Amino acid sequence: MNTYSRMDIEFSHGDGPWLYDSAGRQYLDALSGIAVCGLGHANKAVTAAISEQAGKLLHISNLFQIGVQEELAARLCRIGSMDKVFFANSGAEANEAAIKLARLYGHNKGIQKPGIVVMESAFHGRTMATLSASGNRKIQAGFEPLVSGFVRAPFGDIDAIRTIAANNNQLVALMMEPIQGEAGVLMPPEGYLTAVRQLCDERDWLLILDEVQTGNGRTGSFFNYQRAGILPDVVTTAKGLGNGVPIGACLARGAAAGVFQVGSHGSTFGGNPLACRTALTVIDEIEAGNYTQRATELGKRITGRMQQTLGSLDELVEIRGTGLMIGVELSCDCSGLVETGLTSGIVLNVAGGRTIRLLPPLILSNEEADLLADRVCETIARHLDHSP
Ligand SMILES: *Cc1c(COP(=O)(O)O)cnc(C)c1O
Repeated sequence: MNTYSRMDIEFSHGDGPWLYDSAGRQYLDALSGIAVCGLGHANKAVTAAISEQAGKLLHISNLFQIGVQEELAARLCRIGSMDKVFFANSGAEANEAAIKLARLYGHNKGIQKPGIVVMESAFHGRTMATLSASGNRKIQAGFEPLVSGFVRAPFGDIDAIRTIAANNNQLVALMMEPIQGEAGVLMPPEGYLTAVRQLCDERDWLLILDEVQTGNGRTGSFFNYQRAGILPDVVTTAKGLGNGVPIGACLARGAAAGVFQVGSHGSTFGGNPLACRTALTVIDEIEAGNYTQRATELGKRITGRMQQTLGSLDELVEIRGTGLMIGVELSCDCSGLVETGLTSGIVLNVAGGRTIRLLPPLILSNEEADLLADRVCETIARHLDHSP
């Protein structure tokens, strides 16, 4: 169906941070399939794990023991200081699990219509519940009636949440992205996550962090909350976890970990041996390559280099981000910029209208990172030349 306006280009294969089109042209990938291929394309360890597991067992259903799923669950829990995991197949599905968990948590406390605080300009997915939780009208329009039970607060404003809390005794959870990706790499003010954690504690709300995009090493720690020094009650992730093999995870801690019981939730494909073996290998590779720390170094290197070249531009609003989740906000219209990037040999993305969103693989060399920054700058210069 015609759900995407696609670029007129087809890639035939990739190698690390490089993509090749059918005409043999080479591109530096600054998108990673939207924060998915953090280890780059055709990663040898990932390819080997997939083919080895495919030769043994792809799928068996959750009606049986799955050792590799338990192994992955234990690994994720150890990394994120969580207790239990539900496995799904995408970010939206992981968030659906979190939303259902929060509602059940509320009902278990005797709350009839449990509500969840969500953020303006949030993005949580395209299923009915997750698009209802999202703050972008464009993805909701035409799909009403929306799922009820979401109360919206401006992102980054702790007082606004306090006001909402004071006026609603049916609330049971707060769900947010630690950095808003789809909205254009929007960062909350310093200390916001800590303040939100404290407010959730005061109110006995579950803090649900959507780390579908920020997780898996991209923002300089495996989960972004580890940088802030707080723990959520529930965290969801997906994108980078399988390096392209679909997998989503909803992790929970403490009381939240005990909410789902046998029969509460389910998935046919979720946590299958192929996806879990792949994700375990992705985690092995991230740890062996120290890619979370590399993400921080590379992010500083790229933003520093772009700042030098773009700093004096009138059209530059801001370069922001953490690790390899970087936004370059311009004051001008960005239409056509992605195409200009392609002719400069770089795959880019624009999010939130006027922000170039960079989500390159974590495996970049210093030279590739410099080249990436230079090509972004060149693309912007050419874009401004062409613009009226
Ligand atoms: C991409 C994304 C989702 C949705 O993930 P899908 O795998 O496309 O369902 C949810 N939340 C955030 C923060 C995302 O970036």
